[in-house]
Amino acid sequence: MKEFLGYRCSLCGTEYTAEQLTYTCPKDGGNLDVILDYDEIKKKYQIEDIISRDDPSLWRYLPLLPVKDPGGEGTPLRMAGGTPVYSPPLLKKKLGLKNLWIKDEGRNPSASFKDRASSVVVARAREIKSEVVVTASTGNAGAALACMSAAVGQKSVIFAPRTAPAAKVAQLIVFGAQVILVDGNYDSAFDLTIEASQEFGWYCRNTGYNPFTAEGKKTGGFEIWEQVLLKLDEDSCPACIFVSVGDGNIISGIHKGLKDLQRLGWLRQMPRIFGIQSEKSAAIANTFFAGNEIIVPISATTIADSISVDLPRDGVRAVRAARETGGAYITVSDEEIITGIAELGKVGIFAEPAGSTAYAGLVKAIETKLINENDPVVVINTGNGLKDIKSAMQAVNPAPVIEPTMKALMKHLGK
Ligand SMILES: *Cc1c(COP(=O)(O)O)cnc(C)c1O
Ligand SMILES: [Zn+2]
Repeated sequence: MKEFLGYRCSLCGTEYTAEQLTYTCPKDGGNLDVILDYDEIKKKYQIEDIISRDDPSLWRYLPLLPVKDPGGEGTPLRMAGGTPVYSPPLLKKKLGLKNLWIKDEGRNPSASFKDRASSVVVARAREIKSEVVVTASTGNAGAALACMSAAVGQKSVIFAPRTAPAAKVAQLIVFGAQVILVDGNYDSAFDLTIEASQEFGWYCRNTGYNPFTAEGKKTGGFEIWEQVLLKLDEDSCPACIFVSVGDGNIISGIHKGLKDLQRLGWLRQMPRIFGIQSEKSAAIANTFFAGNEIIVPISATTIADSISVDLPRDGVRAVRAARETGGAYITVSDEEIITGIAELGKVGIFAEPAGSTAYAGLVKAIETKLINENDPVVVINTGNGLKDIKSAMQAVNPAPVIEPTMKALMKHLGK
């Protein structure tokens, strides 16, 4: 893609060509932002050229992505993104909001937001002719990479903690990836993956390391723009986007997507971005509250495994996403995360703990008056509840078991 000009380090600002680097800034380890030729894109495309496309997947935004068309028609790689937004009247009423949308990323091919990143990374891998793509994962990034790789016959290797939820591990294996579980946490899997990729020449997808993950994730921001922002009244208050944060790459990716649109002159008003973390995995929120850009590692223990991270790998950009947009960070307890699963479930949306975390953050933002009834709110459910039914069952009471007779039923119903 000739509009892909190269990279700029998010810390020191040094620019690199696309050929010069693959991962992070060699000077300071900073995350790299992909630079596009916005003037050239603007010359070729108008908003209508994008939003009138038939393709409902994230590939409708190909002109704004730094990869070539990866092919793969008729496969999950081609069908990532394009997730629905719900606007549940019952939830609006309960929360006292005039406008509320829940974007359900559980509807992606491997059932989480991570499909956006993995599909674009696999597209890149094919372009640079990598034989093997590897990633460390708490589960979802790996499931997404394994799924997208399987779709197009790409070989993938996944390192995950042995404690990852069973359904996520099953996905990895069923999708035919080479799966290696480590007797350690996500952070130890992360470090091992980088060493292994250097040793064996594998292309590394690691979140907050490979610059293409944020480019894939920015398509979530594009969809919010198309599905919600373009439809708001001219005089509306800015939309407020609620998203859960672990490594900080989803929030950074969404922010990048919105900034791309702003550079193109296609965004009327920048939304306020709210990052939600578990109190027990709050390294990025801590930095936000400290008012600086120094990420101090913690020892994460939250039930929301997808956002359980000791040392976030995309922390600085994640802090900026909230700070530069008039958003904020909010932390929630594991109890609030579990309650969120039940509340979303009651309107027909099944979230894994890291998905309901964003909703729990909204509840808190309303309680603390960070948000008022006129603010249009978008909550992202980042992952499907089927991925972690053990946590789901903590949110509800188990069903009774009775003998299959009317007598037993009468007794149970107290009739
Ligand atoms: C990965 C993930 C997140 C957090 O994304 P980061 O980029 O690590 O901040 C949130 N929810 C789900 C379901 C995820 O899989
Ligand atoms: Zn740098």
